[in-house]
Amino acid sequence: MDDRMFRNAMGKFATGVTIITTEVDNQPHGMTANAFMSVSLCPKLVLISIGEKARMNQYIKRSGKFAVSILSDSQKEMSMLFAGQLKDRRNIQFKWMNDLPVIDNALVNLTCNVYASYVAGDHTLYLGEVIDLYTKEGKPLSFYEGKYTTVDHLLKNEGVRV
Ligand code: FAD
Repeated sequence: MDDRMFRNAMGKFATGVTIITTEVDNQPHGMTANAFMSVSLCPKLVLISIGEKARMNQYIKRSGKFAVSILSDSQKEMSMLFAGQLKDRRNIQFKWMNDLPVIDNALVNLTCNVYASYVAGDHTLYLGEVIDLYTKEGKPLSFYEGKYTTVDHLLKNEGVRV
């Protein structure tokens, strides 16, 4: 099967956008990710999938913990920054929760300890046991067919009144 066909098909699955963060040697690191899901209620587990070439993979292996920030529809630039899509590196004022850096003003911040990890092809799946969370009201940033979008825009295109 052609890689492009597979990617295009997977792009039909509309998702939110998160930034995964951790800290190694007193340095915060972040990476944009949409491969995120809730897995279990008891214990409370979430799953992320990190590409083998991403620096974040080594950082999480070393720290044994990570945080997930679910972005709001006003945080597209933040997503682009942590996906390496902006030319300039910026100084980010992280918020701190349980000694982990998280993205301020996100809809949700979760802090996790690594519960298990599995190498799966060219990615590593990390199950995180949720230690703490923070939520705030707002609408999510979304990603569909390889492009940033919003829930309002997706619904309008389908003719649903919002
Ligand atoms: P780096 O290249 O080290 O960091 C990425 C960028 O983050 C850097 O360019 C830098 O500007 C910025 N940055 C990092 N830390 C800081 C800091 N402390 N202060 C300021 N800036 C900082 N890849 C996956 O593996 N899994 C996914 O689920 C996934 N989903 C994605 C979803 C979307 C919508 C997009 C756009 C990309 C996604 N990617 C995913 C790709 C991934 O975000 C990029 O490949 C990323 O650049 C890999 O990051 P890295 O760990 O190598 O980190």
